[in-house]
Order: sequence, then C-alpha cells, then structure tokens
Amino acid sequence: MYPRSEHCFSEAKNLLVGGVNSPVRSFNSVGGTPIFMQSGSGSRLLSEDNESYVDYVLSYGPLLLGHAHPVVTQAIHKAANFGTSFGSPTVAETRLAAKIKQHYPYIDKVRLVNSGTEAVMSAIRLARGFTQKSIIVKFEGCYHGHSDALLVSAGSGLATHSEPSSKGVLADIVKHTVSLPYNDTEAITHFFLENHQDIAAVLIEPVAGNMGLVLPELTFIQKIRDLCSESKALLIFDEVMCGFRSQQGGTHQWLGLEPDIVVLGKVIGAGLPCGAYAAKKDIMRFVSPEGSVYQAGTLSGNPLVMAAGLACLTLLDDGSEFKKAESYTEALCSECETISRHYKVPVSIARKGSMFTLFFSDRLPTTFNEVLNCDFAKFSQFFHAMLKNGVYLPPSQYEACFVSSVHTKDDLLVTIEAFKKSIQGLM
Ligand code: PLP
Repeated sequence: MYPRSEHCFSEAKNLLVGGVNSPVRSFNSVGGTPIFMQSGSGSRLLSEDNESYVDYVLSYGPLLLGHAHPVVTQAIHKAANFGTSFGSPTVAETRLAAKIKQHYPYIDKVRLVNSGTEAVMSAIRLARGFTQKSIIVKFEGCYHGHSDALLVSAGSGLATHSEPSSKGVLADIVKHTVSLPYNDTEAITHFFLENHQDIAAVLIEPVAGNMGLVLPELTFIQKIRDLCSESKALLIFDEVMCGFRSQQGGTHQWLGLEPDIVVLGKVIGAGLPCGAYAAKKDIMRFVSPEGSVYQAGTLSGNPLVMAAGLACLTLLDDGSEFKKAESYTEALCSECETISRHYKVPVSIARKGSMFTLFFSDRLPTTFNEVLNCDFAKFSQFFHAMLKNGVYLPPSQYEACFVSSVHTKDDLLVTIEAFKKSIQGLM
C-alpha cells in the first residue's frame, strides 16, 4: 500500500537497527510498515509515497507551532550563519533560561542539556547529591527516558525493589528505584511510612503522557507534595512532554503546587534536541561547576537549539498560540465523542491542553493497569484506518496525540471524516 515507504524501510533495515533510530517509529505495536516522511509543513506531513497526512504526532510533542514554522526556521538559519557551536558560553543560553523562568517563576536556575533523557538522569543525580539519600520513587506507566536507573518494571510487592525492564541494566543499578501505581495515594503513603528516611526523590509526570494521556487526581499529587516535604525528599516534575502542552506554561499553574525540581524538553527546543532541569538556587548550587554533582555536555546550550527554543517560547508569550491548539483539541475530541456515541463504539478520550488520547474503553483509565485493559487490537485497526484516510496518529496506544497552533478547520474536517469512516469500520 505504501510502496516507496516499504522500499525505504527494507533499505533502512540493512543499516539501522530495526530500520529506525527510536523503537516506536518501527510500528511494532500496530504492525505494518512505518511511513517514511519527506517533509513537514504546518500541520501536514508529506510521505515518500507523496501522501499528505494531518499530523497528530508532531515529533512526539515538540512542534507546538507545527512543522517548519517560519519564525523558528528563520531563527535557526540566522543562528547557523554565525556558527553552529562554540564550546563557550553564549548570550542565547541566558536568554532561553530567562524565558523558561518567565513561565516557571518558582525556579532560580536552569541547566540546559541535549535531551529529556539526559535532563531526567541529571535531575535524579542532583536529587541524590542534594539529599544524600538513595531511593527514587517513580510510577508505573510514566516514562522518563532510557537512563539505566529508570528502566524498571514494578516489583511484586509495594516494598519490593524493582526489576530492570531492559536487558543490559543491572539489578544493582535499579535496586534503589521503586515503581508504584499512578494515582494510588495509599500505595505511596504506605511506601513513605516504611522508607521515608531513604527516599531522595519522587519522580512523576504530573500529567502522564506515556501510557496514553492519563490525568492525575489532584489529591494524589498534593499527597506526594506533602510526603516529600515532611520527609525532606525532593519532588521532581518531569514536564518533558506536558510542559507548554497540557497548559500554557508549567503544570504548577494547573495543580496549584510546585515541585522542587522541574525537568523540561520537547517544546523548549521546538524540534531541535534539547532538555533542561531547573530548581531554586539552594538546590542548583550542587551542580558542577558550582557544586560537586557532576554533569556536562559538549553541545549543551547549542546556538541553533537556543535560537529555535527562544523563537518558539517567545511566540507562546501572549497565550494565543496555545489557545488555538487547545480549542482545536477541544473541538476535535468532542466531535469524536459524539460520533463514537452515535455508532455505539465504546471510546473514551482523555484531553488536556493540546494533548489527547483515544482509548477503546467505556471509561477513562486512571492507572497503567487500566490502560492495559483497553482494547489494543481495536486501536491497531483504528490506527491503520485513520492512516488510510490521511490522518497520522502515534503508532501506539501508549503515546499521546498532539495538536499544533496551526491545525486548520480543513484539518479538522479531514480528521472528523476519517474518524467517522474508521469507527464505522470497527463495527
Ligand atoms: N520524560 C518524558 C515525560 C518523556 O515523554 C520523554 C520522551 O518522550 C523523556 C523524558 C525522554 O526524552 P528524550 O526522548 O528527549 O530523551
């Protein structure tokens, strides 16, 4: 069906592991051949087979302004003309840090890195260095990048240490990482009761996007905040995905409470490789060169990335870009809900800001186990039907869909039409 993509994929498989450079791109969980893209413009992708798609992947989140936004590309071109990397500080790094602080007023200092993985990995090192404690608590279904200490699956009991979820990760490395159920206040309360002296940090996606979109119960997050404060453990919000996405700025605006460390990525680099972690200065002063928690990077704060990030965050300043993406998301999700109700297909749609996930289940999941109970076979069928009808969704039930500020009325119509046909095909 996609002859050129099939050809590209078979060539890629000879040279790249699995034909891709990040596993989700292989379409393993929905089957079929990954679509090779040749270009992106605004809300649309053009494939190697010359098919146009309304894109809801948006590079897994960074492209809040859509593909090749002229303000972003001009900023990158301009920066490139002045040199691509210096290995010396530049003013653009201070400017991007100031921009981030504008949206996250509770932080004092920022460290810029090259990816979300690197940022989270460094943030947990900082938390351990600051607290002099060992245990990191995370939650099932949350993803924080592929650093060894965070590749864990839940142990068999609440107080049991986790198992590595990847070959090559030593049990010794993950023995200080614990994975608890999301939205389970009792589980985290119980864990703190038994282990509070050893907990360095609780790491959470305050709006979870890596098991599909799952929203937190506010009482759950509040309880974690209280437990951390009482036990001198740090609360780390991983906002690599939900920062500038689930709301205009940070999740503190929505939740009404602040973490000790925030981790960012994706939107702050506007599609170029970027990550950041940030906190008050009494915590950040532990990071090298001020302190003894070591962390460095040859290309950290790269001028092209800074230019793209600054252009993007500056455009977001007045809130109108975010509002456009959010109101499109709202309109799309409510149309889809109406259609699925009409055809009596059990669908529930989680939505927050410019993110959404469609689950084949009659109620919204609140934990990873509930996500696992959704109909994955239906999702795969639905995914391929949408693709056939010109809509590019993330090829996995575990991924969130993203909307940009440049999705149009026409995109909405194309998507709704595709949705109608795809849902009918499931009956
Ligand atoms: N944290 C969260 C919440 C993420 O969604 C991701 C990636 O999707 C990461 C961390 C890792 O970021 P990166 O892929 O840039 O290493």
